[in-house]
Amino acid sequence: MLDIKFNLATEKKSKPDPNNLSFGKYYTDNMFVMDYTEGIGWHDARIVPYEPISLDPAAMVFHYAQESFEGLKAYRTPNGEIQLFRPDRNAARMQSTHQRMCIPQIPVEDFIQACKALVSVEKDWVPSVEGTSLYIRPFVIATEPHLGVKPSDTYLFMIIASPVGAYYEEGINPVKIYVEDEYVRATPGGTGFIKCGGNYAASLISQVKAHDLGYSQVLWLDGIEKKYVEEVGSMNCFFKIGGVIYTAPTCGTVLPGVTRMSCIELLNKWGYTVSEERLPITDIIAASKEGKLEEIFGTGTAAVISPVGELRYEDEVVVVNNGKIGELTQKLYDTLTGIQWGKIPDEMGWTVKVD
Ligand SMILES: *Cc1c(COP(=O)(O)O)cnc(C)c1O
Repeated sequence: MLDIKFNLATEKKSKPDPNNLSFGKYYTDNMFVMDYTEGIGWHDARIVPYEPISLDPAAMVFHYAQESFEGLKAYRTPNGEIQLFRPDRNAARMQSTHQRMCIPQIPVEDFIQACKALVSVEKDWVPSVEGTSLYIRPFVIATEPHLGVKPSDTYLFMIIASPVGAYYEEGINPVKIYVEDEYVRATPGGTGFIKCGGNYAASLISQVKAHDLGYSQVLWLDGIEKKYVEEVGSMNCFFKIGGVIYTAPTCGTVLPGVTRMSCIELLNKWGYTVSEERLPITDIIAASKEGKLEEIFGTGTAAVISPVGELRYEDEVVVVNNGKIGELTQKLYDTLTGIQWGKIPDEMGWTVKVD
């Protein structure tokens, strides 16, 4: 149990229009902070007014990117309660990130307690308009001022929160995806399976390229052969071909998404076969030509489920399901969002109430 001190903002910001939130634009009145000092451990958990922080310019995070982050949401249910979705999975994933990044561990219970405490303080910030939520961003940065390369002796764990609308401006409409055949996101032995900012820094160039060509996201291929499909930007990716659902295996180069895992569990419950065999991009193109490519969708906390309406790979353009959302994609979206927003019973035991 953390002993959290509360020193809350006395002045409250005015709330943004809940119908026009976009993503990650507004922040709540307070934030959670906790320090780590070598020899002492994690200490001084506190919730304080949201404000800029001051760091030494030599802080190691600025130079060698030793940091981790997570992303989850707090949802307002129809009866006004607030709930989180599988926060234990985010806590566990942050632990695997920390193991890889040589960052000291945060106990799962402490991570959940901290998230709940901040959301509880910021209840008024959890919007109730359809599709909106309070996005929670826990992160850890290396703060020791030091220019040699080594793990930091000091860290800052912070949680900020942002009321958000739908992730994509297009809403639930299918997105157009560019298959990246030049740059790679992850290789075996690297950091593709963890949530660290460096993965994103290295992916920007492809995102810019895709945008310039009129595509909203990048589909990554494996880093060795550039043959097998891995993920879509910040989402895991699913393909329905001839009745079978494929998604890339999470064995080192793919981020093990909580939404991915939840979709697999639902699909299995509904009797579908989910294959985690590696799937070549050329098989997807071939399936499309044979009329067997039924649906493609991305999964992630921010967008929940995002249907893919078009894929471009080299000179080939594949239109999926006539550019419309597929039946199974819609069912997964309705079920997951139904559970997350408390509109349908949570038979899976995935939601956690915030008092
Ligand atoms: C966070 C993330 C995902 C999605 O994970 P969720 O737990 O479902 O939000 C997928 N891919 C990458 C690269 C990510 O960073």
